Amino acid sequence: MSQFEFISNQPEDTMGLSKRLGSLLQPGDVLALEGDLGAGKTTFTKGLAQGLGVIRNVNSPTFTIIKEYQGRLPLYHMDVYRVEDSFEDLGFDEYFEGNGVTVVEWAHLIKDQLPDELLTVNLYLGDNGSRRLVLEPKGMRYEELCKEIMS
Ligand code: ADP
Ligand code: MG
Repeated sequence: MSQFEFISNQPEDTMGLSKRLGSLLQPGDVLALEGDLGAGKTTFTKGLAQGLGVIRNVNSPTFTIIKEYQGRLPLYHMDVYRVEDSFEDLGFDEYFEGNGVTVVEWAHLIKDQLPDELLTVNLYLGDNGSRRLVLEPKGMRYEELCKEIMS
């Protein structure tokens, strides 16, 4: 499987990349965001929302698990950090297979419920506010998306 690496030196770089990605997303696309607290998962989602034409400000859904935004497509923003039981069926499928785009922060916590094909974005904290983003596409669709935004 191929990997795509991107160095971000400031929040705007992270959002620039995710905005580009957001502008290309289609119904049913699923993104898994992984990284420590403060790595930039929610910041990445903010850019993605911009690319999807969402006007409302996106902030962390930590206490609600799922927040929905309306843009060119619906955006379902999940943060499953507080999901206690990874097997508990909270109806995630309805979102993954729906007409919108789903972004899941801490997605590995519900890994058994994730679709086979998705785009994982790993965010690593670096020095002086830098971040290393490693994109891992699973499936041709996501592979093509990565090539397009990295070119
Ligand atoms: P997470 O959702 O992973 O916990 P957040 O996106 O909520 O992380 O927080 C990341 C914080 O780090 C924000 O305050 C953001 O402004 C800051 N930051 C600094 N540099 C970067 C960068 N290069 N990319 C993303 N966020 C950055
Ligand atoms: Mg967050």
